[in-house]
Amino acid sequence: MPSDRTPPYAIGLTGGIGSGKTTIANLFQEYGISVIDTDAIAHQLSAPDGLAIPVIRQEFGDSAIAVNGAMDRNWMRELVFSDSNAKKKLERILHPLIRQECEKVAALATSAYVIFVVPLLVESGNWRERVNRIAVVDCMEQTQISRVMARNNLSKEQVLAIMRAQVNREQRLAAADDIIVNETDLSTAKKRVQELHEQWMGLATAR
Ligand code: ATP
Repeated sequence: MPSDRTPPYAIGLTGGIGSGKTTIANLFQEYGISVIDTDAIAHQLSAPDGLAIPVIRQEFGDSAIAVNGAMDRNWMRELVFSDSNAKKKLERILHPLIRQECEKVAALATSAYVIFVVPLLVESGNWRERVNRIAVVDCMEQTQISRVMARNNLSKEQVLAIMRAQVNREQRLAAADDIIVNETDLSTAKKRVQELHEQWMGLATAR
């Protein structure tokens, strides 16, 4: 049934790999704010019985699907790494579905504003248009490298390769309406989260 409810005020939360998007989003959740994680949604879509599975099978063949019925992530990672057309094809399947699922979840949100966590928000024109404000979680590149090396057991070169596929820190900061510095001390970030929560509550309720 179509709803005549105004869509919730939307914040797009982004940041480079390992900047701390999930860590910061969790702090907003403590204020009762609905957080919609696009990576988690992408994962659900390509899990066994995920909505994207039939079309992935149709477009890429049975080898794209693992025995448990989920998308075979290793197979797909290797393919899209070496074949940019395959990468585009996968994105054409997943992006509209991710967006559709995000909107479904957002429509059910009861908080004054919602946060979409979108790693490649600055890279994606669609998301920039959808959100009311862009918040960037920021830290030094060296901090990103150390965190991701420790968390994912990757070499420095592997982390740098992922970072090179994203916009650089300067380009991301240039797109920000709000910046959350998440460098060393989480208590500094917590204060900033409280300040932004109050500001966004004000903006959302003043509409
Ligand atoms: P990704 O882009 O890979 O999804 P992310 O931006 O969501 O990452 P997190 O997963 O929140 O980043 O954080 C990356 C790693 O750094 C995690 O292991 C997290 O525990 C750690 N981390 C985040 N913020 C801090 C901090 N202020 N101090 C110490 N460690 C932190």
